Amino acid sequence: MMRRNYNEEVTHLLKRQFYEWDTVRDNYNRLSQADIRKIQKYNFDLVLQYNPERIHSAIVNIDLKTISQRPCFLCNEYQPSEQQAVIWEGRYKIQVNPYPIFKRHLTISTLEHTNQRIEGRIGDMMQIAKDLQDYVILYNGPQCGASAPDHMHFQAGLREDLPICNVLPRLTILIIYSNYRDCFGYNVNWFCPVFFISTPNLKNGEEWLSDLINWLPVHEGQTEPMINILCWYKNETWYVAAFPRSNHRPSCYGCSDGQFIISPAAAELGGLWPIAREKDFKKITFHDVECILSDVCLSIKEIGDIARNLRDLLTYYSLNKTTNYGTSSPS
Ligand SMILES: [Zn+2]
Repeated sequence: MMRRNYNEEVTHLLKRQFYEWDTVRDNYNRLSQADIRKIQKYNFDLVLQYNPERIHSAIVNIDLKTISQRPCFLCNEYQPSEQQAVIWEGRYKIQVNPYPIFKRHLTISTLEHTNQRIEGRIGDMMQIAKDLQDYVILYNGPQCGASAPDHMHFQAGLREDLPICNVLPRLTILIIYSNYRDCFGYNVNWFCPVFFISTPNLKNGEEWLSDLINWLPVHEGQTEPMINILCWYKNETWYVAAFPRSNHRPSCYGCSDGQFIISPAAAELGGLWPIAREKDFKKITFHDVECILSDVCLSIKEIGDIARNLRDLLTYYSLNKTTNYGTSSPS
């Protein structure tokens, strides 16, 4: 049987929702006129987008008590009557995000109300990326920007809107493991340190990303290591960018003078910064961006240490078990 063409179904869904749902039409039209500023590092652009509608997600309170008392906006019974879905493999619903930061912006949530957790779902994320090739799939950990930490969801954004997806060939990758088609490594010249995987083999991507996640510490009171993940599929290859985190919010987060209402998640780490307050949008500098990122991300040294340990681990694997690491396994 032919696989359903989800990319096309979602394009139709977007068209229908633009036509039938005023909030969606207004917000996407407004986004298309949004003011943009760029901040450069080396020859990489980071895009600042003035987006007042995002104030709700920038100040969302994710403590357990607040969350348990609010109606869940990803559960069917609390969604607006206009909101429709494309059901993915009987397990997730793909829907239009009515408060977009991408020219096309989707929410992909489980049919059941269950906690935000990446464990056991990396393969889904990769398969969804392959099914929605115009998009980059985003995962925000429950303490790393997820707006519904109690309801498992990914987001998807038009890939061309996210700077990191366009600059990959120009990033320097320091290798953890590679053979002629697969690469697992990390980069330190992007705006923040990032682990990278490129592979034509879903199982390899799944295993490497799991190895990385298993290596990261789980902080007290949390259910998984703090992480944001991006995944996209292009030219028969999966690309994964993973950003281990140290903090949920930067030290300059707040409403006072000199503070910003900015709480970075996967999109920001990938170079797209929707900014809700006009004064933040106007005044933020390269230096502020660097401070915010160094507050919430691991340092280059910490990333390097993790990479060294993973390299040892993968070398050990490849010497001691029958691996499926790539098509040309070392023999
Ligand atoms: Zn829910």
